[in-house]
Amino acid sequence: MTTAVVIGGGIAGCSTAYALAQRHIDVTLLERHTEIAQEASGNTLAMLYPKLSVIPSLQSTITLLGFNFTLDLLAKLSNSANFFNACGQIQLAFNAAEKAKQAALWKDDFFHNNQQVVQFLNGDKASEIAGIALKSAGIFLPQAGWVIPRLLCAALCNHSLIKVQTNANVMAIKPSKNGWDVTTINDAFEAENIVICNANDVKQFGFCNSAQITPVRGQIEFFATNAASETLKTIICSDHYLSRSVAGLHCIGTTYSINTAPNDFNTSISAIDTQSNLAALGKISPEILREIDLKSVTSRAAYRSQTLDYRPLAGQLLNAVKLQENPPRYNASPADLPWLHGLYVNAGHGSKGMITAPVCGELIASLICKTRLPIDANLASSMNPSRFLLKKLGLKQLSNLLY
Ligand SMILES: Cc1cc2nc3c(=O)[nH]c(=O)nc-3n(C[C@H](O)[C@H](O)[C@H](O)COP(=O)(O)OP(=O)(O)OC[C@H]3O[C@@H](n4cnc5c(N)ncnc54)[C@H](O)[C@@H]3O)c2cc1C
Repeated sequence: MTTAVVIGGGIAGCSTAYALAQRHIDVTLLERHTEIAQEASGNTLAMLYPKLSVIPSLQSTITLLGFNFTLDLLAKLSNSANFFNACGQIQLAFNAAEKAKQAALWKDDFFHNNQQVVQFLNGDKASEIAGIALKSAGIFLPQAGWVIPRLLCAALCNHSLIKVQTNANVMAIKPSKNGWDVTTINDAFEAENIVICNANDVKQFGFCNSAQITPVRGQIEFFATNAASETLKTIICSDHYLSRSVAGLHCIGTTYSINTAPNDFNTSISAIDTQSNLAALGKISPEILREIDLKSVTSRAAYRSQTLDYRPLAGQLLNAVKLQENPPRYNASPADLPWLHGLYVNAGHGSKGMITAPVCGELIASLICKTRLPIDANLASSMNPSRFLLKKLGLKQLSNLLY
């Protein structure tokens, strides 16, 4: 039986483990904490919605495909009603740029005629669908919703072929006779395939040093449902989001602070960030803000891992030493590149990991099994974890044609 070790128990690791197990691969998932989903994927609630764009970029295409993939995945998980709800999302036309973007979507044939994807609302209709008074028009994405990441991660790992080992801090990965040796402080593992899903620690093992990736701190706040908020039915977004009530709590997010000191992972709660989230809520609904008991507000901070080009790091690694010693020609065949056989990455999911990580897990599983890719080959190439090195070597064209 084919074997794999997945390093990291966030949404990237758990969804990759699931995609591999679905293909009858025997998976060991190693997580350094006492439980899975403790870092970015440990947020109490996350929103699932794509950003629509008339002129698709690689980033917006990945996000839209990922959104549909995650919805399909949730539909397959038997208990997903416990941690997912498609309550819909209203993006308010809250400033000139957003108004212009929504006007362009309205003029676009695909979006204009596809009510399942997006509906265009005037202010009255937006308020009616939201269930609270809103000040501006907007667009409504009926398939969007919220998810509880910890329960989603647990559901993905609940598979007879996935063995989760917690308190397993991986220290090193080395090539072995039958694939790769993985060592933690107390243990050693061997597998044919390794998938590195450790977010901001992706350079830890020395195979992905060229990745241009930065930690970005985010803080979210929770407050109890109040008289003004209890009728809210959807997620409402400006440049922040407000969730509908889930288990008696609304979530407001999120701040976005790029780390100036790359190794500073301070998750203590910032009063300034709380103020900034509450101020954003006040712009969406001053009525709800007025009713909040400020003493009951709770917060959580975590770190996104954001790449320079906003695309995930997903796919098989190339041998950086061999690439630099002996750079291939710009028109080399992908098969002749110095691939690190059996070594993959699923990381760098920035602010949208709940919708980008699962489709990347599926991509890696299809690369390992050499089956049809779940996405276009050029799009898959654009996420390859070695792309930054290829570009540095002047091989941008090659980096777009890896599969
Ligand atoms: C405040 C905030 C709000 C967000 N809101 C949303 C949202 O609404 N919607 C959305 O889609 N996304 C949202 N995101 C982004 C999303 O949370 C992330 O993109 C996603 O959780 C990243 O998942 P991951 O598995 O890559 O990383 P993580 O969840 O950080 O998991 C990485 C795991 O690897 C483990 N690890 C690291 N090194 C090792 C090692 N050596 N050995 C063993 N284990 C190791 C870590 O302990 C950790 O568990 C938000 C992020 C933040 C910070």
